[in-house]
Amino acid sequence: MRIPLIAGNWKMFKTKAEALAFAEEFKALYAGTDVQAAICAPFTNLEALVEAFRGTDIKVGAQNVHFAEEGAYTGEISTAMLEEIGVDFCIVGHSERRQYFAETDETVNRKLKKLFQGTIRPILCVGESLEERDSGKALDIVKGQLEADLSGIDSECVKKLVIAYEPIWAIGTGRTATPEQAEEMCAFIRNTLIALYDEDTADAVIIQYGGSVKPANATEIMNMDEIDGALVGGASLKAKDFMEIIDF
Ligand code: 13P
Repeated sequence: MRIPLIAGNWKMFKTKAEALAFAEEFKALYAGTDVQAAICAPFTNLEALVEAFRGTDIKVGAQNVHFAEEGAYTGEISTAMLEEIGVDFCIVGHSERRQYFAETDETVNRKLKKLFQGTIRPILCVGESLEERDSGKALDIVKGQLEADLSGIDSECVKKLVIAYEPIWAIGTGRTATPEQAEEMCAFIRNTLIALYDEDTADAVIIQYGGSVKPANATEIMNMDEIDGALVGGASLKAKDFMEIIDF
């Protein structure tokens, strides 16, 4: 039985003061639901958010991590640093990191392996560009990402994985995938996991849709059979909007 997970991805938004103001407002609105809620925030907000959400069911996630234990990697953050402050999730391989920060399937794979040595659950992002969709390559692209990103990772680890299907053309564009397009890809992702592992493993994985999710379209997306949650960018920045999505 998969518990739906709706996670906010704040990207590079909110100072610590703004994050704490959000947390106060969100906690007052959040009355506990059957849905797991999480906020993936900039590094500088993580410790404050873990404190602010203590005693609630609201989880906290990072948006990136390095694959090395420690070392001379200026500007990077390790899994141990995130674990020490009580982070629950970490986004890996977001398309913005693949596009702007040279993240590759190889680095994504190394980051997943590192996270699986510890307690933080990865949210692995996959998805195709508009050009790839228009040329009929979307399924092949996502399959290729899954095969490369999960290479050498065993089924016990994969059972703890969250996968976010985020078509690049639907991110921040206001152009949402139709519920049918999202459902088709999420079902395809689960079938790919069955082929790579087995039914039991595939059944355990939470598969989210992300890309212009907002209060107005959350119900139809969340009601699809193969979609277990959402990764929400812009609409997670306002506590009321994010709560409306969680209450879909
Ligand atoms: P938007 O919800 O702003 O389209 O962003 C989606 C996203 O990239 C979440 O990771």
